[in-house]
Parts: sequence; C-alpha cells; structure tokens
Amino acid sequence: MNYKKIKNMSNITLTMVKPTALKKGYAGKILAQITEAGFKIQALKMMRLSLVEAEKFYEVHRERPFYGELTEFMSSGPIIAAILEKENAVEDYRKLIGATNPENAEEGTIRKQFATNIQENAVHGSDCDDNAADEADFFFSKKERY
Ligand code: GDP
Repeated sequence: MNYKKIKNMSNITLTMVKPTALKKGYAGKILAQITEAGFKIQALKMMRLSLVEAEKFYEVHRERPFYGELTEFMSSGPIIAAILEKENAVEDYRKLIGATNPENAEEGTIRKQFATNIQENAVHGSDCDDNAADEADFFFSKKERY
C-alpha cells in the first residue's frame, strides 16, 4: 500500500495515554475500554517525548497561551501512543474520550473517569482524518503497524 493511500484512510485515529494517567496506573483500564468499544490496536508503544518532540507534535497549538505548559507536561514522563482502527475512528474515539475539559465530559467517558484537569486530561485523540494520519506517522514506521 502506498503512502498516499494510507494518508487517505479514514478508519484510524492516534491516541496517547498522557503522563499523569500512566503514572496513576490507568493505562490498562483505558486500553481495555478502548478495545471493548470496538477499536483494534494497530500499533502501540511506550516512550518519553523530548521537549522538542512534544513541541513538534503540538505545533498547531504554538500560538495558544498554554503551549509551553502543555509541551512541558507532555515531555515530563512516559506516555503510551497507539494507532486505533475502527470505522469512523476519529469521531467515535472523540465520543469515547469526552470533552477536553473533564468537568464538561459526559459520565462514562475516558476523560471523565481518568483525567486530573483540563491539561492532564488522560488521553489524546486526533481531531480529523488528516491529523490522524500525520500523528500516526509521527510515532510509527510502517513496520510497526499491524
Ligand atoms: P483536544 O483535541 O480535546 O485534546 O483539545 P485541544 O486540541 O483544544 O487541546 C490540546 C490539548 O491541550 C488538550 O488535550 C489539553 O491537554 C491541553 N489544553 C487544552 N485547553 C487547555 C487550557 O485551557 N489550558 C491548559 N493548560 N491546557 C489545555
């Protein structure tokens, strides 16, 4: 399958279990809820982002007031990154994780259950298909995807 074709697929999303959620021991429960909701794990790794890598990942937010704080937090400890596969993956995963601010997240969503605050909100989820493809490429080579 060529690169262009992978980029146009709309059935994947990229998630990260963020440092605080991992530190609190929630990764297993979060991954269980993800697979129970019908997502297939295409790729998975645990790693610590450098500050430069976190800045690159969140480049689109560079102008936002919380950019410095967010990138410092995201490089403060290990994360788990995963590519999730499902029909309508981006939208369905955002429903599963809930609103950015856990105070506004619906009961039963991942952020409602496992977030600490608006920044340390347990998980990342891509916001559109193009970003999902770019974010998947950010973390994983072709050989690391199954
Ligand atoms: P998401 O798509 O739901 O993750 O939300 P955004 O794309 O708007 O923001 C990206 C990430 O930045 C969020 O997941 C939070 O970790 C963080 N963030 C968003 N809004 C705020 C804020 O007002 N303050 C801080 N400190 N972090 C925020």
